[in-house]
Amino acid sequence: QAKDAGRSNYRVFTEEMLHKANNRLMIEQDIGAAIAEKQLSLFLQPIVALPDSKLKGFEALIRWFHPELGLIMPGDFIPDIEHSEAIIRVGNYVLEEAGAILSRLRKQGWEDLYMAVNLSAKHYMDPGLIPLVQHILSKYDLPPESLLLEVTEESVIEQVDLALSAMQSLKRLGVRIAIDDFGTGYSSLSYLKQLPFDVLKIDRCFTAGVLEGGADTHIVTTVIDLAHNLGRTVVAEGIETPQQCDFLADAKCELAQGYLFSKPLEEEKVFGILNQIERDRVWPIETAP
Ligand code: C2E
Ligand code: MG
Ligand code: MG
Ligand code: MG
Repeated sequence: QAKDAGRSNYRVFTEEMLHKANNRLMIEQDIGAAIAEKQLSLFLQPIVALPDSKLKGFEALIRWFHPELGLIMPGDFIPDIEHSEAIIRVGNYVLEEAGAILSRLRKQGWEDLYMAVNLSAKHYMDPGLIPLVQHILSKYDLPPESLLLEVTEESVIEQVDLALSAMQSLKRLGVRIAIDDFGTGYSSLSYLKQLPFDVLKIDRCFTAGVLEGGADTHIVTTVIDLAHNLGRTVVAEGIETPQQCDFLADAKCELAQGYLFSKPLEEEKVFGILNQIERDRVWPIETAP
């Protein structure tokens, strides 16, 4: 009996492993086609100022419209390719596309908006990144500060020295840097003080509990004060209710992002509603997935 159980556990384990390995291979092979056949697209999630809800910019969030599997969210393929060369190709595509969208916005008169782009660790420590960013800034004639590159706290902590020098090179180009998912990556305060970032994004798992008066409340207010004392700006992620929004505005958090304002939107949708957003500042924006 014990032997049977052991054997079936073993079989389940290997099947799952095999499935994962196959899946990863398939994803890596499909990515090339995905880029060539334009299956990848960027959705844009508004980021607004507090307390007036004025639109300040967007975060570009990738979506994969797979011909057989349908819509694949980034959480279901980015982690699988983060340690392979495919992440560089995806990242290059994302940067180029984000630059193109920003340029289209600027040509229509929206010159004060910024674009936030997520970079994975392997990509922002890649020597090809700096020339690419430089190329995109000049090709689309973008002010460098209109590009905000988001790196996760976790990716910084994995290789602090490399991350620091990559961030310094990026800063020399004039682009801005955000530490994403802050609070989930165990960074020490001595690192935080050294890193040349401009913006700190408080992870959604903290904003979710901000009204409860417990640990999350104290963490959020303390992190906002800490960031301000270091001269940084704060974005709260995952704002879903007006009450969370009011709390964060009172705590002097400058920027907010979340379903209360809008889900990530297709580019066409964004262009369609920009005037309305600017005029009425009425949220939420109703949207597709
Ligand atoms: P992230 O950078 O922290 O992005 C925020 C995620 O939270 C997005 O999920 C967004 O849709 C979701 N979100 C925003 N507001 C709310 C809210 O009010 N409630 C809830 N429940 N969720 C909210 P998404 O688009 O699925 O992206 C997940 C993660 O995938 C991102 O987390 C980022 O780490 C990664 N990612 C997305 N696009 C890219 C990309 O182009 N390159 C790389 N390297 N990573 C990406
Ligand atoms: Mg992000
Ligand atoms: Mg985040
Ligand atoms: Mg995240």
